[in-house]
Amino acid sequence: MSDASPMPAQALLRVAVDAPQHSGITGPLDYLSEQALAPGSLVRVPLGRRELMGIVWPGESADPTDPALLRPILGALGGLPPLSPHWCQLLEFAAGYYQRTVGELALSVLPPQLRELEGSQLQLRLKKVAKWAAEQAKVPAAEPSVPTLSPAQAEVLAQLDALLLAPAPPPVLLYGVTGSGKTEVYLRAAEHALKAGRQVLVLVPEINLTPQLEARFAERFAGVATVSLHSGLTPAQRLRNWLAAHLGEAKLVLGTRLAVFASMPQLGLIVVDEEHDPSYKQQDGARYSARDLAVYRGHLEKVPVILGSATPSLESWQRANEGRYQRLALPERIGGGAMPRVRLFDMKTLPLTKGVTTALTAPLLDALRLRIARGEQSLIFLNRRGYSPVLHCGECQWKSECPHCSAYRVFHKGDRTLRCHHCGFTERVPHACPSCGNLDIAPLGRGTERLEEQLAEALPGARVARIDADSTKLKGELEAQLNAVHAGEVDILVGTQMITKGHDFRRITFVAAVNPDAALFSSDFRAPERLFALLMQAGGRAGRDAEQAARSEMWVQTWHPEHALYKALHKHDFEAFAASQLAERESAGLPPYSHLALLRAEARTPEAAKAFLDAAARWAQQLPEAQGLLIYPPVPMSVARVANVERMQMLVEAGHRGALQRLLWHWLPELGALKREHKGLLRWAVDVDPLAI
Ligand code: ADP
Ligand code: ZN
Ligand code: ZN
Repeated sequence: MSDASPMPAQALLRVAVDAPQHSGITGPLDYLSEQALAPGSLVRVPLGRRELMGIVWPGESADPTDPALLRPILGALGGLPPLSPHWCQLLEFAAGYYQRTVGELALSVLPPQLRELEGSQLQLRLKKVAKWAAEQAKVPAAEPSVPTLSPAQAEVLAQLDALLLAPAPPPVLLYGVTGSGKTEVYLRAAEHALKAGRQVLVLVPEINLTPQLEARFAERFAGVATVSLHSGLTPAQRLRNWLAAHLGEAKLVLGTRLAVFASMPQLGLIVVDEEHDPSYKQQDGARYSARDLAVYRGHLEKVPVILGSATPSLESWQRANEGRYQRLALPERIGGGAMPRVRLFDMKTLPLTKGVTTALTAPLLDALRLRIARGEQSLIFLNRRGYSPVLHCGECQWKSECPHCSAYRVFHKGDRTLRCHHCGFTERVPHACPSCGNLDIAPLGRGTERLEEQLAEALPGARVARIDADSTKLKGELEAQLNAVHAGEVDILVGTQMITKGHDFRRITFVAAVNPDAALFSSDFRAPERLFALLMQAGGRAGRDAEQAARSEMWVQTWHPEHALYKALHKHDFEAFAASQLAERESAGLPPYSHLALLRAEARTPEAAKAFLDAAARWAQQLPEAQGLLIYPPVPMSVARVANVERMQMLVEAGHRGALQRLLWHWLPELGALKREHKGLLRWAVDVDPLAI
């Protein structure tokens, strides 16, 4: 301490930084600052020889360092209001729950450009946002056409209005069949929250659903500043939209899962549309569930959360059964339209002739011809893209295996390639068998590309279109294709699950699932739940026009028409299906009656991956927190090798969420050291509440 030069008063700051994983830094770090800065302020700090963006974090330092050893911050990003205490709490909870450091998660959910901005650049951006907001407010308020609510919608809305005023509203499960007017309810609830001066956050599962949702909100709320947040934006757009929300200028934020972390100081309502959709779960890095975090955020900020679905996740359904969520129902389609009649077509009734193409059965083709003759549209759903999943040599039994993965490469006829859907490895299709030279190599099985081709052959003159990840790679392609469908330029639309979600097709009266059985026998206990939701969703595309609803039909081709899942589907009986699934889950001790985490290991050899997981399990077993929990033996993942990396996983099961969290908290920090002892291990990761097992 020197008393010669007068030191300015130094404030102690905790700062969350995105430190590299191997640094061993787990919590916020202490720094000195000449100014006291509010928690949530963005600062630049030195770390080692680097300069990083950090967030001043709320709370006291757990283990304060001697101030004489601390380094000063390099500067604060002035002009930006601090992130709110609620935002910091949300991030702290999410980081803890999904086992990441708070700095890593908090900085990764901010727009990347924000980290690179100098103070003067930021001022410029802030000015632009203010200008943008002023322009938004000037949009001439063309009188939107607002439908009169149905009695069921009015009743639901009255309850939501009461919740909007409640001091601590419970989450709402809005259970409404497809076409029952859930979106209209979101619009009204949003309108009421906006009128009360609050911001509204609406989450959708897929990026390709944002444009139509945006259009629907824009039509209703001309003059309300609206932004979207999803991974399809340019870095500049993402920063602008994020700032608009953070400054409270954007009143409506529409987005995909990452938008659950949007900074919204006046948040008043959260809507999670299609809450059962697996896309809400992040599949790498911090494997968070945006749906679950939305519920937590609503609880934290004491604002209503609406989880909407025609086929709620069994987790949400169970919470509604227990009264922890308030269930509101829209049991009927708008206009009293019937749900499409479900026909289970028993494949066993087909004559077993050789060479018959099993997907396009004669009765299915008849049904399609009938729709074409009536000028109606059909949709055929097949959850497999490409031409055929395997190419095969009948002489030597060669198959188009991927040299880097334990999977076959898919034959894409359009560009004559063999493509691995796991690692991306792509080659030209060989003109002869690479193993024996036979010229007659043939596709095995069927993807959307082949189905499209076979349909065109079987129904000459029919206008067939295909929508899947391959046909919509280029920007604007999906929109153009959807527009063609809406304009009636397509008779039969073939596609993957991409076409089953959300789209409000008005002319479709016939939906067929040609090969859905595989999911019945999957080792993943959630496969039936997903199949049921997918088929209900696909069926929901038919007869959305009440006039056509009466003659709309869903066609399911199956070898197992007696299966309970199809029986429930036949009656559109989600509740019976949910009850039977929940009973099965309860007796098997599966979620939502237990809580799971998966520890995953990747290595050059399966032995190395297994050795690490075995050692990790032994470590866990000696912790008192592991008492009463189940740690299963490591098993290879369903596609064990991807890009020459062997992947294994180990399941941990607990009766209570808290018990699982306590074990993870005591156990995972030790795995860094354990990894260093296992040289063959490339990386490990934990997935809390995994969706795919
Ligand atoms: P969901 O989201 O449940 O599938 P939507 O909100 O998309 O249902 O409603 C289905 C269709 O019914 C939409 O075209 C919508 O514009 C229309 N609609 C919704 N509510 C009403 C209403 N009260 N009166 C008339 N039409 C309505
Ligand atoms: Zn061969
Ligand atoms: Zn591969």
